Amino acid sequence: MIKSYLMVVKQDEKSENISNTLKEKLKGILEYNENEPDLIISIGGDGTMLHALHEYFHLVDHVYFIGVHTGTLGFYTDYQADEIDELVADIKKGEYTINKRAVLDVQVMDQNGISQYYALNEMRIENPHYTQVLHVYINEEHLETFRGNGLCISTPSGSTAYNKSLGGAVIHPDLEVMQLSEVAGIQHNAYRSLGSSIVLGKEQRVTLTCDRFDGVFIGIDQYSYNLKPFEKINVSLSSHSVQCIQYRPLTFISRIKRSFIS
Ligand code: NAD
Repeated sequence: MIKSYLMVVKQDEKSENISNTLKEKLKGILEYNENEPDLIISIGGDGTMLHALHEYFHLVDHVYFIGVHTGTLGFYTDYQADEIDELVADIKKGEYTINKRAVLDVQVMDQNGISQYYALNEMRIENPHYTQVLHVYINEEHLETFRGNGLCISTPSGSTAYNKSLGGAVIHPDLEVMQLSEVAGIQHNAYRSLGSSIVLGKEQRVTLTCDRFDGVFIGIDQYSYNLKPFEKINVSLSSHSVQCIQYRPLTFISRIKRSFIS
């Protein structure tokens, strides 16, 4: 039963006003709880939802997420700014389904140990300065030596984000898979990699190694970090998932249609 909530709000006037209105309307329905909420409401855009997830990832197994969009409709946001009353009525009614969304477990191993990251959209290894060489292994078996700007591994939720711009497939979020896509891969008679995206399942782990590290960075959703020399990066589907609460019957097909087609 959902008894408490907290809000993560984009730092702009419109989002802050909506958050104040919503807080007022939720009085007597849900209790505001900063530490152990049952529900996290993000007010802003897809970026705000990603920020909320990263800030509260330690609660991910016990908390539900929902988003209100204060711009145009996004992928992680079911309500628009002018639909606050509908959201409050839906919360009060308490009828919902939970959509579990896959998360990537990214482990960067270097001489100091392991740095772990979780990604809801994608992880990227990219180099804007020179051709990045990456050795790609699937379950320790060598697939290819990639040369180009970089590689992106996305979840089904992230398949409609950066992955889509790279020409990767849109994947239904109910599937527990991850997709490896190339960022400007070089394809000619001397260098060749797969060229297309490859979709992998729960039993697969992608391992990336490289020989030259200057200028290379790792992107995790909306964050990016310079990579220090690393031994290898392992990417697999996490045992954790993000639980998105859905009060409205909004199908994945209608989401992609409203965002990309009509
Ligand atoms: P942001 O929050 O401004 O998002 C950039 C755009 O990506 C927005 O229009 C947002 O609505 C959309 N987006 C984010 N997640 C999405 C998803 N799962 N499905 C469909 N659209 C989605 O930018 P940011 O904070 O720098 O990065 C957040 C995400 O934006 C990244 O994880 C990346 O996937 C995406 N992005 C995409 C491109 C691109 O397509 N060329 C470039 C930069 C970032």
